[in-house]
Amino acid sequence: METKTFEQLRRECLLCRSCQLCETRRNVAFGVGNERAEILFIGEGPGENEDIQGEPFVGRGGQLLDRMLHAVGLNRKANIYIANIVKCRPPGNRDPQPQEQEACHPWLREQIRLIDPKIIVCLGRIAACYMIDPSFKVTKQHGEFTEKNGRLMMGTFHPAAILRNPGQKADWFTDFQALRDKIVEICTDTELVYPVGDTLIPIAGRGESFQTPTHGGG
Ligand code: SF4
Repeated sequence: METKTFEQLRRECLLCRSCQLCETRRNVAFGVGNERAEILFIGEGPGENEDIQGEPFVGRGGQLLDRMLHAVGLNRKANIYIANIVKCRPPGNRDPQPQEQEACHPWLREQIRLIDPKIIVCLGRIAACYMIDPSFKVTKQHGEFTEKNGRLMMGTFHPAAILRNPGQKADWFTDFQALRDKIVEICTDTELVYPVGDTLIPIAGRGESFQTPTHGGG
């Protein structure tokens, strides 16, 4: 099998017409982040803003996700990668259909193979059911780490679910704190960073104090 670079994979994916979602998409949201990251986040699929901008999690939910990432020293441009199960927007933000998920699987499979993350975080039910266990219950199993195919996997709430139900934000934050602790425990090349102005400041080790982000409504 031909070994592709990550950039080759991205360019090919942008031309993909393997399922019906290619008919209605504006842009392919292939993924964003550090392709050598030890932590990979996976969501279900692009929404309207993601379709317009060609990047996962850039709407209100994405802004909320970014704030939560920053609270635990993570940053989509620096030390993680973010991708989706399907790379093109399902019309009307419906769930991606099983055949669409299967058609798009080779792209995600190759992303995982090339990034080779130690930890995969599934954002929301669809991603957790697809990646971890078809019967995964986010409200019961969020924040639990499971080993699968040599990687640690964890499912947590989708940011859109937190926007709909802000009462779950504290649980979401607890999951991200557990993720930060797991990163400190097992990741060797991940530097936790905080944004200060336009600069990312590395934070060493654990023990920092974190505040739950307060402006998650939007
Ligand atoms: S959703 Fe995936 S399989 Fe379908 S057209 Fe887009 S990139 Fe190709």
